[in-house]
Formats: sequence, structure tokens, C-alpha cells
Amino acid sequence: VYATIPQMLSDAVSTYGPRDALIFPGRRLSYYDLDRAVDELASGFLALGLEKGDRLGIWSPNRLEWVLTQFATARIGVVLVNINPAYRLAELDYALNKVGCKALVLARSFKSSDYLGMVRSLAPEMEKAEKGRLHAAKVPSLRHVIVMGDEVPGAWSFDEVATLGGPAQQLRLPQIDRGLQPDDAINIQFTSGTTGHPKGATLSHYNVLNNARFVTDRIRLTENDRLAIPVPLYHCFGMVMGVLGAVSKGAAMVFPGEAFDPVATLDAVSAERCTALYGVPTMFVAMLAELDRQPRDLLSLRTGVMAGALCPVEVMRQVNDRMNMSEVTICYGMTETSPVSFQSFVDDPLMRRCETVGRVHPHLEVKIVDEVGAIVPPGTQGELCTRGYSVMKGYWEEPEKTAEAIRDGWMHTGDLAVIDEEGFCTITGRVKDMIIRGGENIYPREIEEFLMSHPQVSDVQVFGIPDKRLGEEVCAWVVATEGSTLEAEALRAYCTGQIAHFKIPRHIRLVPEFPMTITGKPQKFVMRDRMVEAIK
Ligand code: ATP
Ligand code: MG
Repeated sequence: VYATIPQMLSDAVSTYGPRDALIFPGRRLSYYDLDRAVDELASGFLALGLEKGDRLGIWSPNRLEWVLTQFATARIGVVLVNINPAYRLAELDYALNKVGCKALVLARSFKSSDYLGMVRSLAPEMEKAEKGRLHAAKVPSLRHVIVMGDEVPGAWSFDEVATLGGPAQQLRLPQIDRGLQPDDAINIQFTSGTTGHPKGATLSHYNVLNNARFVTDRIRLTENDRLAIPVPLYHCFGMVMGVLGAVSKGAAMVFPGEAFDPVATLDAVSAERCTALYGVPTMFVAMLAELDRQPRDLLSLRTGVMAGALCPVEVMRQVNDRMNMSEVTICYGMTETSPVSFQSFVDDPLMRRCETVGRVHPHLEVKIVDEVGAIVPPGTQGELCTRGYSVMKGYWEEPEKTAEAIRDGWMHTGDLAVIDEEGFCTITGRVKDMIIRGGENIYPREIEEFLMSHPQVSDVQVFGIPDKRLGEEVCAWVVATEGSTLEAEALRAYCTGQIAHFKIPRHIRLVPEFPMTITGKPQKFVMRDRMVEAIK
């Protein structure tokens, strides 16, 4: 068990020095190269006056600079703040101010987003400011803007920062090292915002580096593995399970590009002879479709992680057969627990890997509790709670929300789950989404699954809205299949006699799409608000 991220990196460097650490399109760094680049950048950050505990935001797709910044901030105890590449002005403003960022590292642009333009409109003072002396009315904490690529008025260029650290800063590094504590905050990650405003989960060295290690233990990753990482670095999937997971084993990391692309990913896997691959189920679906178009040699592949959502059995079977990933695993986690707490083993039967999120990680306690907090017997649904090293320090400057989420060290996940006699866990919904109608507990997922069986239903979300008489009433938002003439009344008639009368949605609305988080999760709280407004 390592105590801090720099310790883990330094161990990997001394053991695996000349081996491949990082491969980006057109760039290849050994562990030695990585170590040198991180030290230069960390010294540069010191020269800018960044100190342990300061917050530095990063807003960029997957680039080499991201990984260097991740290690350089950890090296000097600066707290890295991940800013979602899909954020826009209002969300950037919220994130920077919420945690008081002193510096911001950014890509100029990504796809159709002009990041630099948005930063300029938030901090117009930058144009005329001296580098490092920014005072922006709308982001009072921000002093340094560090832009990847060419120089920009009022901002540092990323490469320039790496040259700023002189001997004085280099000498300070070992001394700073000794002052780092495992429990220091080093990272703030915002939750997805599925149930409300995103919250800034504050994580320590100890939280993330040990979680990374246990994730890659389960897939039996070693220094002989080459891990393809097409998932975003701003997310714990990329930066913790990917980067820190690989470094904990001395494995090579292969980044196919700035954002997921099935062609680039499959090409990178076959060119670099990758043995492991990460992705969410929809990425695997896209890769399978690309393989139909153009087959590739994927015989080097063996294992990986599919996370974020349950995987349809057929997709899992094809990933096994056609991508040669017979040891692929599934994970369950949340930002607040660094992230993973359940994962399958590589040799769990295939059906277990499709239908459950596997068994609990080492050094964690879990329990499933009912509404009054009493532990329920195996096989019974309730709220999943986890306790142990991976639970976050708290939500950044949100003591009330923190106290509500973490009680006696137990993280109340807000997820409904069932754990069977053998310890396999199934996630069945969210506590907040449970509907209590006239004293009857109703689980949206059950109704969703039933409505999905209608041939003209393409997608559905079920949720409760307040009702004077019954406490809550059941609502459904339905996306119909293309060209269908489905009507709400017909769908209600379809339910009659098939599911209990109290579960039949009182209100059904046909919609073209659902309100979603940036990470693609449907937001029931938004649907609920709109429905309440509509029937007022
Ligand atoms: P917020 O907390 O802001 O409402 P969020 O909970 O969606 O947003 P994340 O931390 O990104 O933010 O997501 C964690 C959640 O994702 C879990 O609490 C769970 O509901 C869901 N989840 C994660 N992995 C799985 C999985 N394998 N199967 C089903 N659900 C999963
Ligand atoms: Mg959450």
C-alpha cells in the first residue's frame, strides 16, 4: 500500500524506468521520461507561487498535458480540479468559483467549444493583465491562466511553465515530498448532477491510489500489460482507474486520441498490441459495429473494465467472442468513493458478469439498509452503504450535504441494491427515485422494464410527483419508436391487468427525448419539476 501519489510514481520509475509509460498519437514516454516531465512541470508550478492546498483547474480533452498536470499537482500537494470538457460558460463559472481556483490549465478549444473564448468572456481582464497577476472580477481567486499551445496575451503557455522552475524549485521538491500526507486533499471531482447540482467530491492521495490499485488487481494487470484508455481523463474512470491503475502496476498506457472514437481506439489497440481496454457499454457497442465494417486483429486483448451501466448480455457475449476479451469485468462506483466499490472477478461466470456488478472490493465494508437504517437479510433490496479507505473526505465546502451523505464513516450511496448469498450485488435504482403512493413503495425500474416490453416504446423514465391525496403519483415519460402513433391512453390500457393498478402511471407524456446530464444520464428531478409545473 502506497501513501501518496508521488511515492507510487517514484516506485514505478525506479522499477520500470526504461519501459513504456504513456503513448499518445505521435508521442511516446518511458517511465523515466514521465518522471522528468512531471518534475519540470511541478517546479514550474512552484515558480508560479502555487502552494500545497491551492486549487488548480484543468479543462481539456485527453492530452499528454493532462497526465503531466495530474502528477505535477500531486507532486506538490496542489489540489487538481477536474472540469468536464462538455461544460459551458455557466458551469465553468460555477466550478472555478465554487472551489476558488488559483490557476487554470486549458486547451484552447475542443471540437466546437472555444475554451479560450469562454475564459476570456469570464475574465476579460486577462487581455491587459501581466502574466500571473490576473485579477478578474467574476473569478476573484484566479491568478494564472495556462494555455496549451501558442502564447496568448495575459496567459502562460503550458510549455513555458515547464521551463520556469530553476534549481531553487528543484531543490524544494524532496522537501515538499516529506510534507505530503496520505490524507491530504489532492483532487476535486464533480458528480454528474443526476439528482441535482453537481457536488465537488474531495479526494485524497490515499483514496484514489489505493482504489486504482484494487481495480487493476482484479483484472490481474502487470508490467507486461498495455492498457488502452479511450475514456475521459477528467473522469475517475480515466484518471484513477486508467492512469493511476496502470502506474500502480508499471503497465503502459495507450491513449487513442482526445475523445472516444471507435476507429482510432481499435486501430490503437491493434497497432500497440494492447492487452486491456476500458469503456462504457455504448463504446463497446460502437466498436463492435466498427468491427463489422472492418475486422481487425485483436488477439492481444485479454481483459478490461466496462463500467457506468449494466451491459446487455448480447454485447458482453460479443465482446468476449469478437474482441477476445474473455476476462472483461464490470464495476460499480460513484465519484464519492474514489470510485469503485464492486467489481467482477475475471473468472466469474459470464452471466454473473452481465447481470450483477460483481463482489465487493478488498478493505471495504458494505451493508444494505432499510428506511430506518436496519440491515436487511441477503436477497432483500435496500440502500447500499459503503465504509472504508475509499470514502471521500467530503463535498467541498458543503458540510451539511457531507454530514447527510457520510454517517459514522458510512457513505450512504443513495443507490438501491440487492446482495445475494454469494455476495454478488445488483443495482436496482436510486433511493430518491422510489415512489411512495398511498403507503405503497413503488420502484420505478420495475415499471420501466414493463413499459419497455411494449413494441412501440423506445425508452422510458418513471418518477413520482407530489399528490395531495396519495402523497405521490406515478408519472412516465416515454420516447416512442420512430414513426409510431403511440398514445398515452393506449399505453395505460396496455398496463391494465398486467401490473398492479397502483403502479399504472397516472400521467403519461410522450416526449422526443429526456433532459440529460452532460455525462448522458437522464435527470428525473428535471422531469419531475416540469411535470409539476405542467399540471398545476
Ligand atoms: P449526482 O450525485 O450529482 O446526482 P451521479 O450520482 O450520477 O450524480 P456519479 O458519481 O458520476 O454521479 O455516478 C455514480 C452513480 O452512477 C451511482 O451512484 C449509480 O447510481 C450509477 N452507477 C455507477 N455504476 C453503475 C453500474 N455498474 N450499474 C448501475 N448504476 C451504476
Ligand atoms: Mg451521486
